[in-house]
Amino acid sequence: MAQALQGFYGVGQGEEKYMISLIAIVIEFFIVIAVALAAVLLNTIDGRGFLASVLVGLAIIYGGGLQWFIVVAVFFILGVVFTLYRYGYKKTLGGAQEKGGARNWPNILANGGMTSFFAVVNFLYPGPVLGALFLGAVSASAADTAATEIGLLSRSRPRLITNLTKVVAPGTSGGVSYLGFVGAGFSSVAIGAIALLLGVPPGGLLVVPLCLFAGLAGAVFDSLLGATVQRAGFCKICLKPTEALRHCGEPTKVTTGAGFIENNLVNLLATGAGAAASLGALLLTSAAG
Ligand SMILES: [Zn+2]
Repeated sequence: MAQALQGFYGVGQGEEKYMISLIAIVIEFFIVIAVALAAVLLNTIDGRGFLASVLVGLAIIYGGGLQWFIVVAVFFILGVVFTLYRYGYKKTLGGAQEKGGARNWPNILANGGMTSFFAVVNFLYPGPVLGALFLGAVSASAADTAATEIGLLSRSRPRLITNLTKVVAPGTSGGVSYLGFVGAGFSSVAIGAIALLLGVPPGGLLVVPLCLFAGLAGAVFDSLLGATVQRAGFCKICLKPTEALRHCGEPTKVTTGAGFIENNLVNLLATGAGAAASLGALLLTSAAG
């Protein structure tokens, strides 16, 4: 599959090669639009989410190529499946994504911002370092989504990561469960397996443990921030506890954490932690090898 994708690009010479690149650019543009449109039709993103997805998608497909884009598409599909799995039950817990799990644009930039940035840099300096950073960020996003969505189904109540004797309500930021941890591990390995199949740099079997390590590191970092500095509060209108900046059309009241550190910023920082963990692991293994 990796060879087939590479064959899609660098074939031909001179003008012929130029034409093929041009055709690839146009085809890739329509792939991104088609995937984002499908996401709108499946009600997983809203209108502005569509624009944000197209920007993120174009950055990834032009900067990282079709391989990177497929990895991100797999992350997105996993996220949708995990979110919609037993959605009704999760909604009764109050921890489910609102609006049928539809992602809005801040959510897409939180999950895709770091990966798009790495894709743009990869366009200039392609290689194993950018590949490792990219896979680390995607694995952290995938792990965090699964930890949240699968963790909500845990039969045992989640416990606070900074004080494991303290039981918290499902959906509380900083709350962790074994099931959430298993979900995080599963989806990071799934990202690693796709990366292995497609030959995404740094390539080889190494990408699977790299993704697993980065995914778990990102999810743990996300929970640590969630338990310490992330904003928590309640809605002044309906009085429900919420971590959102706005609820019922009004700004929410902060009770704990820093006012500006909300869930999307925490997600973005967690993808950075995943990328750093992945790069650290790559450097360690290359130093050892
Ligand atoms: Zn409200």
